[in-house]
Amino acid sequence: MKVKTTFKKDEKIKVISFDLDGTLVDHSFADAVWIDGMAKLYCKKTGIDIEKAKKEILRNYDEIGDHSTKWYDLDYWFSKLNLEGSPRELMEAHKDKVRLYDGVKDVLENLCKKYRLVLFSNAYRPFMEIEIEQSGIGAYFEKTVSSVSDFERVKDTVAYTKLCSLLGVSPEEVLHVGDHEKFDHLYPSAVGIRSLLICHNKCYPRETFSLKDVLKILK
Ligand SMILES: [Mg+2]
Repeated sequence: MKVKTTFKKDEKIKVISFDLDGTLVDHSFADAVWIDGMAKLYCKKTGIDIEKAKKEILRNYDEIGDHSTKWYDLDYWFSKLNLEGSPRELMEAHKDKVRLYDGVKDVLENLCKKYRLVLFSNAYRPFMEIEIEQSGIGAYFEKTVSSVSDFERVKDTVAYTKLCSLLGVSPEEVLHVGDHEKFDHLYPSAVGIRSLLICHNKCYPRETFSLKDVLKILK
């Protein structure tokens, strides 16, 4: 992984905003709920086999797309697909799969001594709450914001502007850290928020950072 050496620590930065899924928490819980768990419920309802159910579920998600708040809303999907049970039961059944990436607590522990830390996620509130509770990282953050539940929009430019107002800071006083090229890099950058694109799996053919790089840059 190539580290962007041009990024310099900026003395103006007061707040570090973190994405959650794919940045601090790995994809195990999200996949168990959104793919395996939902496919099993869909199987039960339709009688089709599990592989077909997974394809159907994913096709449904694709049709809505991740720029819609519905994409993140399990209540919407339970009702649309007419599934038995509840989002709460589904999430509770898989909550032991919530896992932090290596070194996350160390990084947060270090940064929270110098900066105000916030969580800013597209995950809907109940999903995010379970991840925070299971991973035990809640105490590091002064605020946790679900863009979809609290702002009723995905993390677009308007949402980032709202986040700054909520925190009482200007965009140049915020650094956002996340793994999604649009939601965590392009949109915050467009309103003047500096951002670091994280990659745990060398997934981007471009310059990305590890969480430890973030610590090195900011310490
Ligand atoms: Mg993410």
